[in-house]
Amino acid sequence: MKYYIKTFGCQQNEADSQRIHAAFAARGMKSARGYNDANYIIVNTCMVREKAENKAYGLINNLSQLKTDAAKHGRTVKIIVTGCMVGVAFRDSSGKYLARLHSILPGVDEFMPIEEVGFNYEPVRMEHEQMGLVPISNGCNNFCTFCVVPFTRGREISRPIKDILEECRSLKTRGYTAIMLLGQNVNSYGADLILGRDNIQVMRDLSKTYFKSPSKKIKDWQGMVPTYVKHLGRQRLPTLFPHLLKKVAQMGFAKVDFISSNPWDFSDELIAIIAQNKNITRTIHLPVQSGDNAVLKRMNRWYTRQEYLALIQKIKAAVPGVKFTTDIIVGFCDESDEEFNNTYTLCQSVHFFKAYISMYSQRPFTAATKAMQDSVQHNVKKQRWEALEKLINIPNLPFKKVLKKKRALSL
Ligand code: SF4
Repeated sequence: MKYYIKTFGCQQNEADSQRIHAAFAARGMKSARGYNDANYIIVNTCMVREKAENKAYGLINNLSQLKTDAAKHGRTVKIIVTGCMVGVAFRDSSGKYLARLHSILPGVDEFMPIEEVGFNYEPVRMEHEQMGLVPISNGCNNFCTFCVVPFTRGREISRPIKDILEECRSLKTRGYTAIMLLGQNVNSYGADLILGRDNIQVMRDLSKTYFKSPSKKIKDWQGMVPTYVKHLGRQRLPTLFPHLLKKVAQMGFAKVDFISSNPWDFSDELIAIIAQNKNITRTIHLPVQSGDNAVLKRMNRWYTRQEYLALIQKIKAAVPGVKFTTDIIVGFCDESDEEFNNTYTLCQSVHFFKAYISMYSQRPFTAATKAMQDSVQHNVKKQRWEALEKLINIPNLPFKKVLKKKRALSL
């Protein structure tokens, strides 16, 4: 029996697929070269953008045809779908989303929540890989209004620090030279371990004050002093990410990277750890999403343009030579020309090394889909996307790729 895994989406999905590999290998199966010689095809889906979701639907329907054709030749093929789509379906208590998946994807044999795979298997990594992907947390409590992740992956759950360090040590022993720590918001890592999952307030209401009384501050957790990030005068959650990052950096890897970090949880302690450990990445991914305060508020992002720029300056001052990459959404609900222009000017002043720019698309269950209008026309979104591509990404591409991209953008 052979299996083949197709992965859509981010590094977190890549890391999940490495554990799926391990789970199938543990059942005595072999990895197939492609769809055509596999008995089990696992599609690990992404729903962050509509485009990614549609690609998965297209592939799964083609695979259903392949399954029918294979059956005619006496070969059994089973299609298993996992990842974001299934996460949403299993968290939808009405059951409607799962029913919809069954009806539009009739060829699928099993919708498998990724949680079923768990962390019991040593991930199967490609032999040529030098960088080990190590998930440190899963899910997100932030509920940015455009984002489906809290509905696909659920609330943030941190892996025990001991397990993460053991995995990193094992990778070091096996010759890995680089590590990438993964989470939807790595710098809130540990808040649920310290406070207990039920005590984490969801950041929906900007008027709320967290940790009103300083006496509520936990000063010691298993010998570590939690980091409290102060944001807009409020205390945020206690986190352990600076401790974790330091411990991993001191294991002797040539490079230690992490993704993704939210600007509002990027603490002074974290900056100091990066500055003190030269093997920690000097290319920091810091998603801004928009450079306009009103749009940031509609997105439920917990920082202002001014705070974001101040953070960039603070990191630049402490970490010489640091570069920044970012995520930007153009054409978010009601984004005006002036609001977009604020994003453009922010990008001009930061000089991002690379930006992952996407045109806003409505995602199921999100507050933006429920309460706001996807009012910006597609051609306007495209113009804004192109303007930022030309500003940030094209100048940083190698010459041949610049020509190709310029042609594609009809410059
Ligand atoms: S921080 Fe916001 S954008 Fe990032 S995963 Fe959480 S909800 Fe989504």
